[in-house]
Formats: sequence, structure tokens, C-alpha cells
Amino acid sequence: MPASICDPVSSALRLSLNADESQSTTSLDSRLYSSTKIAHLSKIEFEESGDYQSSVFDGLKSKYNVVIRPKKSALETKVLKKEGNQNILNSDNNKYEDGLPRPKRVLFPLEKVHLGWQGMWTVGAGMQNVGNTCYLNSTLQALYHVPAFANWLVSEGPHVEKCNQHEGCVVCGMRATLLATQKSGGSPIKPWQVYSKLRLICRHLTPGRQEDAHEFLRYLVEAMEKSYLSRFINVEKLDQYSKETTPLNQILGGYLRSTVRCLSCQHLSTTYQHFQDLLLDIRKHSTLDEALDSFFSRERLEDLGYKCEACNKKVSATKQFFIERAPMILCIALKRFSLTGGKLSKQIQFRKKICLNKYMHNRNNQSNLSTTYMGSSTIRGYEPIEDAAKEQSWIFFMVI
Ligand SMILES: [Zn+2]
Ligand SMILES: [Zn+2]
Repeated sequence: MPASICDPVSSALRLSLNADESQSTTSLDSRLYSSTKIAHLSKIEFEESGDYQSSVFDGLKSKYNVVIRPKKSALETKVLKKEGNQNILNSDNNKYEDGLPRPKRVLFPLEKVHLGWQGMWTVGAGMQNVGNTCYLNSTLQALYHVPAFANWLVSEGPHVEKCNQHEGCVVCGMRATLLATQKSGGSPIKPWQVYSKLRLICRHLTPGRQEDAHEFLRYLVEAMEKSYLSRFINVEKLDQYSKETTPLNQILGGYLRSTVRCLSCQHLSTTYQHFQDLLLDIRKHSTLDEALDSFFSRERLEDLGYKCEACNKKVSATKQFFIERAPMILCIALKRFSLTGGKLSKQIQFRKKICLNKYMHNRNNQSNLSTTYMGSSTIRGYEPIEDAAKEQSWIFFMVI
């Protein structure tokens, strides 16, 4: 129904919509409609508001009291994303000095990790092959000759006494096998306590079949972490960073900084990646140093294959890894499988000590590593571990 011509609101609207008095007889509805249509079809130019933070938020600060702080979603995600070259917020109690988030709860304090041998240890007994178990035997031997790992397993005595997981506890099985290698008087043992839990460690692992040692190591560590976590109540409610404070992760866990630089606008995108080992490509290398240099070198990504979040377009870019936080024990696995399905059996040389400083993002964090090494049947590098215990330097081991 048309508004009355005498209505003062209608009169004012008519006046503002069209000052031409000749159209004053046209219905207000149709004139409003045509004006709205013009507004909708016209192009709107947006301008950046400038420093919105100070111009608006600062003005509002005096008006409102903030009673609930926004949740830091980064605490809940495993990969934390950081844009550009932001400074690390040391003053933030939720973060460590290196900018990585603090866990809400620490399950196994870092101070309880002992790098050198604690107590009396001898070289562990050999292990018999109980059916294509060379991958399993060599992985166990490598782990058992890492002092920090062996010390922790032995310290699990109180857990063993009250463990209610019976045959299903991988931690108890690993501990029993370690003690067997120490108490056998030199004669080889059969790793039944671990072998019998193969399907528990990962249901894809088949007894009697050859498996990949690195893959087995990953499953084994994960299964031990799961066993360890199951002793805590409401473990599913723990944030990811708290779950990373298991003894296994305190010993083997570290963070890589992955950086991608846009070659168009130079924007640097940084992400952190949690890791428990480095898998190195050895196809073109004959020494561990070369393989590490290659892993941490700057690599050019496929031309125009990277979507830059700053340019918002496909660009060419470079990618480079750094060590953001070195693990206490760096585990290195060599990729021995070739693309053609064969095995790369060439020898890879390595020094007894390597320095990781050139790969660290923050080079003030010194990381010297001594070596313990496990092939499928040979133990080397036992002496350097003893040296390492005296020097409290860092240690790494390798699994073939
Ligand atoms: Zn147990
Ligand atoms: Zn860009």
C-alpha cells in the first residue's frame, strides 16, 4: 500500500531519492526498488582500513574488560604455523624460548633422561633369527645400545610390578627382552617377548615375513608410547604437546623448521614438524655428512608449483629444512630401497662425531653427536657411547 503523501518520512525519502518534483507522483515503493537496484549493481571499492588494531581496538579497550582469553588453537595442533619472520615471543608462558608451545602437562620430565650408562652394563647378547626377524633383531639391538633408552626401560621396574596389561604391554615386553640380553652370560637369546607382540605393535606386520627395519622402528616406538600413555587417566584429553612428553619422545623427539620462500614476493612461510628420525636419501652420496648436507640444503620446488599465501598465486619457490629443536638422540635411517625395487647395499661412511650446528636454525644451540651404529649383525661404536657418557654430549644411532 503506497505511503501517504502527507507522511513526513515518505516526504523526506522522496526528497533524498530524487529531488525532481516532477516524479513526486511515482509510488515510493517502486522508486525505493529502483534505487536499491542501482546500489546493488554498482561496483564497490574497498580500501584498507590502515592500522585497525590501534585505531579501533585501542579505542575499545577503555570500554570493555576482557574476561575470557581466546584459546590458542596452536596448542591443539601438531604442526604450528608461523607467518613471515615474526619474533619469538619469549615472554609468552605458553611457549618455550624457541617459540614452540609448552605442553600443559609433562608426563616424563626431560631431567629424567640420562644420556650416559647408569649402573653396570655389558654389551648385550646377540639375538637369534626366529623367522626372518633380522629387521626386528637389528632394531632392538640399536635401541638397547642407546643408554638413554636402556636406562629408561630399566627404570620401569615399578610399572612392571603393577602392570595390568599382561601380555599386551609392549613396554614390559621390551624391558624383559633387554634384561634377557644382559643376563644371558653372552649366549644369544630369542626375542620372543617382542616377537609375540608383532600383531599388537602393528597389525600389518606378519610373523615370518621380512619387514622394513625403519618401518618396524616407527611402529615399535608408537606402540611403546601407546602402552606408556595407557597408565594415565583421561589420556585422550591430553593435548598433543603433552602426549609428546613420553620418555620415548623426550629421548627421540625433535622439531624441524620447514621454510618455503616465494621467489616472486620473497614471502617466507614457516612450519614446524615434529620428528623422531631423519630418513636420508643415499643414492648420490657415500658419506653421512653428504647425505645430511643434502637433506638440509635449499631445494627448488617445481616451477610455478607453489601457491604463495602472500601473492595468492602459483609461483616458483625454494624449500629448506632446519633443525629447530634437536632431539636428545638423533635417529637416522638410510633409505636403502632404490626406485627400481632393489636394495642399495653400498657402504656409507660416517665419523664418530658429527656436528649439527650448521643445520640448526638457532646456531647458539650446540649439538654434537657421538655415534652408535647397528648393522644387521655387527655392533660398532660401543666405545664412543662411553665417551659420550663422560662428556654428556649428544648421541645418535642408525638403523639399516
Ligand atoms: Zn607393562
Ligand atoms: Zn609470494
